[in-house]
Amino acid sequence: MSDTYDVAIVGGGAVGSSIAYWLTRDPAWRGRVTVIERDPTYARASSALSASSIRQQFSTPLNIHLSRFGIGFLRQVRDLLSVEGEPPVALGLREPGYLFLASAAGEDILRDNHAIQRREDCAVELLDTAALKARFPWIDTDGVVLASHGVANEGWFDGPALMQAFRRKARSQGAVYLHDEVVGLDRTGRRITALQLASGKTLTAGHVVNAAGCWSASVAAMAGVSLPVEARRRSVFVFDCRDKVEPMPLVIDTTGAWCRPEGQYFIGGISPPADQDPPDLPLEANHAEWDELVWPALAARVPAFGAVKVVSTWAGYYEYNTFDHNGIVGPHPEIANLLFATGFSGHGIQQSPAVGRAVAEWLTQGRYVSLDLAPFGFDRIAANRPIIERNVV
Ligand SMILES: Cc1cc2nc3c(=O)[nH]c(=O)nc-3n(C[C@H](O)[C@H](O)[C@H](O)COP(=O)(O)OP(=O)(O)OC[C@H]3O[C@@H](n4cnc5c(N)ncnc54)[C@H](O)[C@@H]3O)c2cc1C
Repeated sequence: MSDTYDVAIVGGGAVGSSIAYWLTRDPAWRGRVTVIERDPTYARASSALSASSIRQQFSTPLNIHLSRFGIGFLRQVRDLLSVEGEPPVALGLREPGYLFLASAAGEDILRDNHAIQRREDCAVELLDTAALKARFPWIDTDGVVLASHGVANEGWFDGPALMQAFRRKARSQGAVYLHDEVVGLDRTGRRITALQLASGKTLTAGHVVNAAGCWSASVAAMAGVSLPVEARRRSVFVFDCRDKVEPMPLVIDTTGAWCRPEGQYFIGGISPPADQDPPDLPLEANHAEWDELVWPALAARVPAFGAVKVVSTWAGYYEYNTFDHNGIVGPHPEIANLLFATGFSGHGIQQSPAVGRAVAEWLTQGRYVSLDLAPFGFDRIAANRPIIERNVV
């Protein structure tokens, strides 16, 4: 027997659940929505293992616009995602900004990015080393020639809580969450005609949305589609420092190592060098990264971090778009009823509110209304038209 839906979303993380929320929110739309999620504990989902930070400091205007909508949404979550007057778990949004540090080699790029951000009305300031030291006295400016500081609309929040709030609200509005796994997509010509589930059920759906995060390439392959998205492990180290280091924004060092406060502790990490970054590594933190890359860089940049203690670690996967490190959003050019919302490469949770809204608009109105995400469409891959984002963390 097969169940029929207007929209079937594969993956109920922040992105899939945001799409379900926006779809079911529209009182004029009477369609049936299901979200198929194979693991409702989200033990390996990126949305549950994210560093959940949000910034405006991108080099691509569309990424700036996506995240700008995101911060406005996060500020209103209590109202927007309440269910029958019950607010969701508080997101603990904090907005101390991001601080990008540039060496001489990175100075021109930082200035170019700054010019783009100012054109897009971002509240960012360039700091020379004297201004940097005056503003953040705990920093060692050795090797830094310029810094860019976001003075508004940047910070961090509880990402897993956002995902759960989207899910809870979407369910309250009628989205049906199925605890099951999509194991096959039946395709006839230009259409997906059915979804096969691990339980043996078959679903039919007017549209299928692939929001399966770092596993979205395997879902795409079920329809005979090659998708350049891989599961790339990122390790996060939680550490304790005896000294106060305040005020601290999210710091991106010249080496690529990053850190920020997290409650009474700090967290930090780094994207590993390309030759040590194969897909599908086990989900356990790589302690050698801390010893060899992260801690030496952070201790040099923040002398107080010379004496810290790692208190815990975790690892999660980026849904890493090997083509151009940006989201792949919208319909497949040949399979008319198959859409994508994946490949965000480290900035997906902050973009989940805007991406969900855009995909819902496309599904309900056949076009993007608030923000045109066509440039992030799948067709850019076949056309070999990458969108180069220079600020990938
Ligand atoms: C360490 C780390 C730090 C990060 N830091 C940031 C940050 O600071 N800011 C930011 O914006 N982003 C950050 N990200 C990225 C962000 O977390 C992700 O982009 C975002 O969570 C992706 O959400 P998603 O819903 O697409 O994927 P997920 O949350 O992974 O959800 C996908 C879901 O699909 C399900 N699924 C997969 N295949 C199937 C199937 N066949 N059938 C049914 N279900 C299926 C999975 O079980 C999973 O629950 C970080 C990620 C990591 C790992």
